[in-house]
Amino acid sequence: MINIRNIHKSYTNGQNNLHVLKGINLDIKEGEMISIMGPSGSGKSTLLNIFGILDNYDEGEYLLDGKKIQHLNERKAALLRNRMLGFVFQSFNLVSFKNAVENVALPLYYQKVPRRKRNKIAIEYLDRLGLKDWAHHLPSELSGGQKQRVAIARALITNPKVILADEPTGALDSVTSQEMMDLLTEINKTGITMIIVTHELDIARRTQKTIRIIDGMIQEIVVNEVGSQRSEVRSQIRSNVIASEAKQTKYEPDRNYESKKYEKVA
Ligand code: ADP
Ligand code: MG
Repeated sequence: MINIRNIHKSYTNGQNNLHVLKGINLDIKEGEMISIMGPSGSGKSTLLNIFGILDNYDEGEYLLDGKKIQHLNERKAALLRNRMLGFVFQSFNLVSFKNAVENVALPLYYQKVPRRKRNKIAIEYLDRLGLKDWAHHLPSELSGGQKQRVAIARALITNPKVILADEPTGALDSVTSQEMMDLLTEINKTGITMIIVTHELDIARRTQKTIRIIDGMIQEIVVNEVGSQRSEVRSQIRSNVIASEAKQTKYEPDRNYESKKYEKVA
């Protein structure tokens, strides 16, 4: 679904040139659910924005559903985004003066679907996400989890092939975050490719693969065990074992240890 080869991207601010992505290669298959992890500033959002045709790249190749994405004008980019992609952001990005239905219906407005029809479809999506009773409320009247569900309904309404989520649980408490992951997993099971940027290990572990990015390069790709309670229990046991091993061998509890643990758990 997404194939990128040797992607480079720099930002220029005055005289400073910041080389953010330094040769990224990645293939994401249709229907996969993957996560992207890495320290702040490592280039995760930049990469996601390139996937989302929200930003250009300087070098390399990007194929989205087999179609070469390069030098598109804004109109063509917007058309492809509207047809292929759904976006979910940490800060929800809802229009504050529009109610839930209007927010969800917005992508259909851009497709010139008449108002009555687009609102009817929007209510169906809100209903699917358990928000029918909140359809006529403004974002400010909704909880964080509800706002994110409105944003997900808006992402789904155009039947996207890919959902790109940039820290979708970043502003949510841990229980709501797990509920959000239940929801994203369910949506993924309908065949929609799901790409989630996160810095939370327990979110990343619920995806099939985790891409670890450091300083604009892929450091490793970890295959996670998902979808089985037994693997969850095994992971738990293994993390305990690793934790006690760590004590014995006097690992420092630093990032190295963290990624080692992660590798073994995965
Ligand atoms: P992450 O999402 O991993 O935290 P980003 O992809 O947002 O990282 O940013 C990577 C680097 O690029 C950071 O140093 C950031 O300051 C810089 N950056 C991001 N967007 C821009 C921009 N539009 N102009 C200039 N620098 C940017
Ligand atoms: Mg970011």
